Amino acid sequence: MRQKFIELNGVKCILGKTNVGLYENHLIDTAVIDTPLNLEAILITHGHTDHFAWASTLQKRTRALVVAPKEDAFLIENPEVNVRGMFNWARPPVEMTTKVFLGEPCKVDRYTEEYPFEGAITPLPLSGHTMGHTGYLCDGVLFAGDALYPKAIWERHKLPYSIDVELTRRSLDAIKKATFDWIVPSHSAVMSKEESIEQVALHLERLAQIDALILRLLAHPQSTEELIYDVLRELDIKDNLAQYWLSVTTIKGHLSGLVSTYKVTYDITDHRVYWKLND
Ligand SMILES: [Zn+2]
Repeated sequence: MRQKFIELNGVKCILGKTNVGLYENHLIDTAVIDTPLNLEAILITHGHTDHFAWASTLQKRTRALVVAPKEDAFLIENPEVNVRGMFNWARPPVEMTTKVFLGEPCKVDRYTEEYPFEGAITPLPLSGHTMGHTGYLCDGVLFAGDALYPKAIWERHKLPYSIDVELTRRSLDAIKKATFDWIVPSHSAVMSKEESIEQVALHLERLAQIDALILRLLAHPQSTEELIYDVLRELDIKDNLAQYWLSVTTIKGHLSGLVSTYKVTYDITDHRVYWKLND
């Protein structure tokens, strides 16, 4: 298959729907690509299928070790966990399940935390998009997975997925502090360290805007369902059953951040949970 790739500091970046790295016989995330047969390991950033979909095939074809963060390994070994987690552990109807939560399970051979990294590859924990989400720094090139949403992502998605907004903020700070020449977000263009500083600031600003929107909507206490309705309406998010549940998780990610920073509180009245300003 013809692959579109570029080389940065001697690190190969295979560009596609999900950008993939290849460095010193280590693949960072997976895609339908021609892979060297002497591949040593596949380093997975997190447990969403667009990042590990081909791991099982490559594992059989190359005998490479599949390495994934401990807290995401179970999502890769049993994608059903993600599907059910999204629907409070009940089984959702298939139309309500996003494609990125489905996929071929793959046995994880080694946790990232326990893998003996040698040479110029270093893992960088970047949680918030998932609990275990991890970037991989290869000789000055940071494969950042879905930790950073640059402007191009915000133009396509007004409420991109985050399970824990406070952790996402901490990870953005870690990207800002990390030393690298280039950053490769999984779903947008490669950028320099300098450009990434601007994009990290934009991501933080967008998170703050969503928080501000929720605080404004909570001028009067709202039930969970009312708040979700208002946020989706204000952001003009198109109705789509699978996307809806991702949005619900992200809104709850913001709510939990606002509760943990004492801006929002809650109670239960008449069989409904109400969210309100903590004043
Ligand atoms: Zn993801």
